[in-house]
Amino acid sequence: MTKTAKAKSIRRQRRKTKTVGRPVKRMVKASDKPVKRPRGRQSTVAALAELKRRLLEISDLNFAGAVLSWDQATYMPPGGAAARGRQGALLSKLAHERSTDAALGRLLDALEPHGEELPYDCDEASLIRVARRDFEKAIRLPSDYVERASAHSSASFTAWTKARPANDFAAMRPFLEKNVDLSREYAGYFAPYRRVTDPMIDDYDAGMTTASVQELFTALRRELVPIVGAICDQPAADDDCLRGIFAEARQLDFNVAVVKRLGYDFERGRIDKTHHPFCTKFSAGDVRITTRVNAADIGEALFSTVHESGHAMYEQGVAAALAGTPLGSGTSAGVHESQSRLWENVVARGRGFWQHFYPQLRSSFPEPFRNVPLDAFYRAINKVQRSLIRTDADEVTYNLHVMMRFDLELDLLEGRLAVKDLPEAWRARIAADLGIAPDDDRDGCLQDVHWFSGGIGGAFQGYTIGNILSAQFYAAAIKAHPEIPHEIARGEFDTLHRWLVSHVYRHGRKFEPNELIARATGAPMTIGPYLEYLRGKYGELYRLPATL
Ligand code: ZN
Repeated sequence: MTKTAKAKSIRRQRRKTKTVGRPVKRMVKASDKPVKRPRGRQSTVAALAELKRRLLEISDLNFAGAVLSWDQATYMPPGGAAARGRQGALLSKLAHERSTDAALGRLLDALEPHGEELPYDCDEASLIRVARRDFEKAIRLPSDYVERASAHSSASFTAWTKARPANDFAAMRPFLEKNVDLSREYAGYFAPYRRVTDPMIDDYDAGMTTASVQELFTALRRELVPIVGAICDQPAADDDCLRGIFAEARQLDFNVAVVKRLGYDFERGRIDKTHHPFCTKFSAGDVRITTRVNAADIGEALFSTVHESGHAMYEQGVAAALAGTPLGSGTSAGVHESQSRLWENVVARGRGFWQHFYPQLRSSFPEPFRNVPLDAFYRAINKVQRSLIRTDADEVTYNLHVMMRFDLELDLLEGRLAVKDLPEAWRARIAADLGIAPDDDRDGCLQDVHWFSGGIGGAFQGYTIGNILSAQFYAAAIKAHPEIPHEIARGEFDTLHRWLVSHVYRHGRKFEPNELIARATGAPMTIGPYLEYLRGKYGELYRLPATL
């Protein structure tokens, strides 16, 4: 499945505002200057209006940059690349200038007492709190670091696009070594920390630490490994029916009909074609998805389109009042991914979903599915197998791919693993976890763009957190509305969508992930519902022993 660049656009966009920019007088905190407290209600109103005006400018600059990136990934001819890179960098620099402006800090200082008097969860208090957190992070990074890191990551990405197809790890080694150094330096600006990856994890999944992710992963891994083993010991599911010739236009029509039905709003969105599907946002009224159609494989575009529409529905569901502020987008990488996974895996790889949609799929593609009953199709789209490529992995083995990357990047950054030994360490780990190993580095440590196009650390754990949370949110929705599975089997998704809007989407970034999860599900993040989901679904599909 084409999951490489999924919905990173939104995530990257947010990170960019924190990490890319111009000379900042480092460590000069806004509070070093005299604070003018707004006196009286009128000046508080004026200060808030000024804060919102400044934040809207930052948001507009970032969204303008997103339009340029989207165009580059969809319609721009190759000749536009150099100028587009320059234009995007300029917009990032302007946004960062505004994000680190001392006047913004002084406004936040002045408004803080007002924010503390308001109820914690009201829009204004949340805005002051979150804008303060973003500001404090942005001013930690010196501009020369930002410029060096940005230049290195774009050179490294360009080199990777050639080195991966050529299976040339040696060419990437110096880039990766420098990336390890730059990532350690990045962490250093956020010292003190307990583990070097803590600051990066906090960027993507606020409130989590290396230790808390390790604890979560250890617990999940203990339960998951025997399930993977029991499934993979059985004959593989037959998924031949998903391969053949499926006309592109028909696939697109079918996929558009599906995501419309799920609740993706085309009045405020659209679909275009790209190489690596992603979701991006230009404003509250314009949240776009992209897709890639493989005429030889019906599953690729279908599940990838549903995945991106999950990200997009989250963004479309943020309350209108939060638009144009730092609260106006999803709260973290993991919670964002939980929404793409919920719609892609829990809903669209479920039997109920296909009770409704399979007849329609068959009428769009009568020949390939003529002799394929619903149960055989359901089994095919949930095939589990040991595989080398993370983005092609099924939902059961996927987490093992993520955990190994998480551990390897920690080893690299903490000095237990040298970059030159990475290919071997990769082979040893995947052999131990999945019982297979790649013949070359193209399908080994060169496969993911993450380590070669940005910092190392923080970007992988969100995928597995997303899987865990997808089941936890879904279970909470079912508890509130037990009729949801029956509705899905009738092609009705309103109740589920509305529950997600009201408990997750509308809050935007008002709450940190842990707060949001507890409010929505009544419990902290837990692996229980996810394991129950996997055991229920795959236990039936593969007739697993009840003791697993
Ligand atoms: Zn995603």
